[in-house]
Amino acid sequence: MFLACSRRCGGRLFRALFAEVEVDASGAYQEHRITQPGYICLNCGAPAFDLSEVPAAMEAEAQEDARPATSDILCPVCETLVQVDEGMECPNCGAPLEVTS
Ligand SMILES: [Zn+2]
Ligand SMILES: [Zn+2]
Repeated sequence: MFLACSRRCGGRLFRALFAEVEVDASGAYQEHRITQPGYICLNCGAPAFDLSEVPAAMEAEAQEDARPATSDILCPVCETLVQVDEGMECPNCGAPLEVTS
């Protein structure tokens, strides 16, 4: 991962917007996981991007254009629009999704 501020302000600290933090019984931090990509620059507050993901994302987009097999589904639990193959789970909340088309 290589995060960079979209304003190129030179900030080196970022905040993950969609993360779950696991704590022990006393509330002490144990572990975290990113549930959805989304970061902001802590220096100026602008959105930040993972530069290492950009080529992969562009490639995935190109493949999507060539392959219209997936469907857009609105998750019944969290109402996120997700593009899924059959039998997948919502990447946002983990709810099972049914492809109805
Ligand atoms: Zn910044
Ligand atoms: Zn969901």
